[in-house]
Amino acid sequence: MDFKNKRVLITGASRGIGRATAIAFASKGAKVGINFKSRTDEAEKTLAELSGDGHGLFQYDISKKEEAAALIGDFINKYDRIDVLVNNAGIAISHNLEEVNFDDWTSAWENTLKTNLFAAANLSYIVARHMIKAGGGHIVNVSSRGAFRGEPDQPAYGASKAGLNALSQSLAKKLAPHKIYVGVVAPGFTETDMATETLTPDERETMLNETPFHRMAKPKEVAHAILFLASDEAAYSSGSIIDVNGASYLRS
Ligand code: NAD
Repeated sequence: MDFKNKRVLITGASRGIGRATAIAFASKGAKVGINFKSRTDEAEKTLAELSGDGHGLFQYDISKKEEAAALIGDFINKYDRIDVLVNNAGIAISHNLEEVNFDDWTSAWENTLKTNLFAAANLSYIVARHMIKAGGGHIVNVSSRGAFRGEPDQPAYGASKAGLNALSQSLAKKLAPHKIYVGVVAPGFTETDMATETLTPDERETMLNETPFHRMAKPKEVAHAILFLASDEAAYSSGSIIDVNGASYLRS
């Protein structure tokens, strides 16, 4: 897989899977745009870890449609074109139906859908227009095992990721005639701040027992799957969902 001089935008790349993905793309010659919402210090840390030059920081809250549009405008101004969009940014809010009040329930749904699903739809809309003019491109969406598993206290998260899978498959068909390839990587639990912040010790033990590897994924293991779907070699894999979950489906 060669990404020499490819222009790659990764949302939520200040830490975790986004950071590992930025490092992996840069190591293959790409110019990487690191989108982040806050924590400039973390985003600068990602930037400092990238090999090569020509990378950039793009501070925009992609859950707001105006900022999503401004992000792409800024990226195109800097790089002239976009070859790969990775919709990686995501939030995971627990909202236990029996415990939260109605306001917290509704705001968890709104925030989760805006960040995990609507942002990817809005960015894809704008980016697809640039890619159509340029003659093609790749969009990779980072979903989750949670889309398939019915996590009891994260219904909005699961719904947002299931929606992201459906969005990806619609776009894979719609955009195929333009040589725009759309794929999904669905990680299981991955060693990032999100997993640390979300899991209780008991949940962590249960999760470790579900996979025969008895460990979480490393962020770079997810990044490698993202790079594959963003590569020219993956054209015929458009529309597919790659699970990176340590065979955890295979045991009950
Ligand atoms: P993380 O919390 O470490 O990183 C998420 C990134 O998204 C952060 O950089 C954050 O600042 C950014 N972000 C959040 N809201 C944003 C917004 N409105 N605008 C711009 N950036 C925003 O999480 P992670 O574990 O690296 O997760 C990356 C992706 O992988 C997410 O979509 C997540 O749902 C998915 N995922 C993670 C796991 C896991 O176990 N870690 C499992 C399955 C799927």
